[in-house]
Amino acid sequence: MSLITDQFGRPLQDLRISVTDRCNFRCTYCMPKEIFGRDYQFMPKNQLLSFEEIERLAKIFVQLGVNKVRLTGGEPLLRRDLPVLIEKLVAIRGLEDIGLTTNASLLEYLAPQLKNAGLKRVNVSLDALDNELFQSINDRSVSTERVLKGIEKTKEVGLGVKVNMVVKKGMNDHEIIPMAKYFKEKEMTLRYIEFMDVGESNGWDFTKVVTKKEMFEQLSKQFDLEPVDPSYLGEVAKRYRYAGTNTEVGFITSVSESFCSTCTRARIAADGKFYMCLFASDGFDLKQLLRSGSTDEEVKRSIASIWKKRDDRYSDLRTEETTKHNKKKIEMSYIGG
Ligand code: SAM
Repeated sequence: MSLITDQFGRPLQDLRISVTDRCNFRCTYCMPKEIFGRDYQFMPKNQLLSFEEIERLAKIFVQLGVNKVRLTGGEPLLRRDLPVLIEKLVAIRGLEDIGLTTNASLLEYLAPQLKNAGLKRVNVSLDALDNELFQSINDRSVSTERVLKGIEKTKEVGLGVKVNMVVKKGMNDHEIIPMAKYFKEKEMTLRYIEFMDVGESNGWDFTKVVTKKEMFEQLSKQFDLEPVDPSYLGEVAKRYRYAGTNTEVGFITSVSESFCSTCTRARIAADGKFYMCLFASDGFDLKQLLRSGSTDEEVKRSIASIWKKRDDRYSDLRTEETTKHNKKKIEMSYIGG
């Protein structure tokens, strides 16, 4: 139960924590290598929150009503000893759910350690099954085989797995049906994510978005889909079930059907900046508070007062016009996807 609400009555319930701004992929729509090249300045190690600092913050957020934490990045599995952090988070009383979002390139090796650390489930990002296309998207020649092996290993050790696919017009929209068929066959949940205008690097505009409506029309020609009710306030995916099965498919419709009114999420970037929205341009420096000797009570008061003032609803207000005049937005790889 959340103890604080913002200006629109939205409770603080989930927290995304980015553990690194580095990634071993250079997805063309997220970290294009022309921008994130050899000379790109990633965060120096001493600017990253330590595991102890993340644990401390997580405990404080739980006291404010957070019951769900998702680790992300960058690529979270690049953070050394990540299972140690998971163990620390699993031990926090009141933290009911811990998730991890990953490109799965290292899952084949790390899945057993993640499971042993107490993790229950993982979200894997995979934008295509076609190997050539996938390699051209990740721009680092990582094969679909490697990701699919990672997924299999993760299931084998007993972790839950959902797959997320960002759909961008002209990039991978022809993979919508093959992905659905493959993961339906595997009885795994697949979620399609509308391409969003995060950051400044991805050349976003409305014409590159494939809306849920368009995807749903394609899928409906091949499958009989039944709607599934949301299971909690703030659930981001619109869920459907393949009729006669327990296998689900979902849509994350941040562009065509925004969900700001039920957004209960806060974010901490890898350097400890606290953000209210994926589309924010400024964050509050929690690391500085932690490192300047503030007590837990002081940190808690700062977080609460920031959340109480929160009045953003970026996606609700998004139009062709507003996207042209926005303030500088931070990159997804920095704030954490
Ligand atoms: N490296 C991890 C991964 O691949 O899942 C976690 C970080 S990544 C930034 C998280 C998710 O954000 C991925 O599924 C990625 O495809 C998605 N993403 C990145 N840029 C996006 C955009 N412009 N619109 C929608 N999703 C995006």
